[in-house]
Amino acid sequence: MIVPLLDLKKQYQEIRSEIDDALRRVVESQYFILGPEVEKLEEECARYLGCRHTLAVSSGTDALLLALMALDIRPGDEVIVPDYSFFATAGVVSRLQARPVFCDIDPVTFNLDPGDMKRKITSRTRAVIPVHLYGQSAAMDEILRIAAGRGVTVIEDAAQAIGASYRDGRRLGTLGRAGCFSFFPSKNLGCFGDGGMITTDDPELFEKMHILRVHGSKPKYVHKMIGGNFRMDALQAAVLRVKLPHLADWTSGRRRNAAFYSRLFREAGLATAPGKTGFSVADPVLLPAAVYESETGSSAGAAQSPLYFHIYNQYVIRVRERDRLRNFLSEQGIGTEIYYPIPFHRQECFADLIGAGKAACMFPVSDAAAEASIALPIFAELSEEQIGYVVKKIEEFIKSMR
Ligand SMILES: *Cc1c(COP(=O)(O)O)cnc(C)c1O
Repeated sequence: MIVPLLDLKKQYQEIRSEIDDALRRVVESQYFILGPEVEKLEEECARYLGCRHTLAVSSGTDALLLALMALDIRPGDEVIVPDYSFFATAGVVSRLQARPVFCDIDPVTFNLDPGDMKRKITSRTRAVIPVHLYGQSAAMDEILRIAAGRGVTVIEDAAQAIGASYRDGRRLGTLGRAGCFSFFPSKNLGCFGDGGMITTDDPELFEKMHILRVHGSKPKYVHKMIGGNFRMDALQAAVLRVKLPHLADWTSGRRRNAAFYSRLFREAGLATAPGKTGFSVADPVLLPAAVYESETGSSAGAAQSPLYFHIYNQYVIRVRERDRLRNFLSEQGIGTEIYYPIPFHRQECFADLIGAGKAACMFPVSDAAAEASIALPIFAELSEEQIGYVVKKIEEFIKSMR
């Protein structure tokens, strides 16, 4: 049996006629960059997320970069980021000649550890970028409280978390000064290329980002500041407008698959409760834990806008002998991925931030995550047979190891 990590073809089949109509509408208008289609997407996303302003941009990376530019992050400023994330979270800081300051992560959620964040704030710290990794919130109460107490701005990296809620029901990406989303095809809401979005409730910040999106030009050809080309194109906006109303269904499909995986792993005796205790349990498979869900006991919300506390952009388990398992699964036709194999503090490009020979032991939780985590196929259209096959093969591998 073949179980790809992600197969977007079935999703396209479901909505093909709507998508094709939307694409044709744009092609016939010959209006390709920004314009009415992009503006409508911005309005629809603002309504969906529950924020005052949204700005559609060229990618999730550019959303982060533009937010930092609008905050006037400068050379010598420090920006705190988790040590364990997609490269863009730290890369955008360095591109402004500011200094990314890495923090270890929470052993259960893989998200920024607020205690380490507190220790790393200095007089040069301007901002912190918590990441809602895999589609579950970082500890935002603590992060927002610590940041507010020290005058540090919070920018959320919600690239993997569109449609997920915080414990109080607000959508992720609307809690900080600005929130950044990605519409890369493999995200829960993906377009047909690159795209991204910034949210904010701050009208002045919004106005500045709006101008920076088009090279800092306002009025046209007059530049009081230097921006870039961070524009979204209308074809991407049209695709996203078709997909947005389906997002809740696709998310519940991912959640159904996650629950089914977890049930099968438990029934096979490979895992007990979700991995609330971090790495130290004896189970061969450590399951992902949806921490805010167990706290409230339920994820039920209003019928039209269900509250999802984990949207499973990735379903990540932790195992011993992870690389051997990954090879074995690949031979069995099962696609997996490692998010992420190398934490920031071990990347060559950041070596001068860390100091020679110092990388070992600096971020033990992040290192342990990089060694043990493996993402399994979780997309909404997976069948129960496919999920059953994945669990069976993992069981086979673990038994062969004993
Ligand atoms: C995908 C992703 C980004 C970057 O988004 P792009 O649209 O690929 O530029 C940033 N941060 C995180 C955590 C991501 O997963």
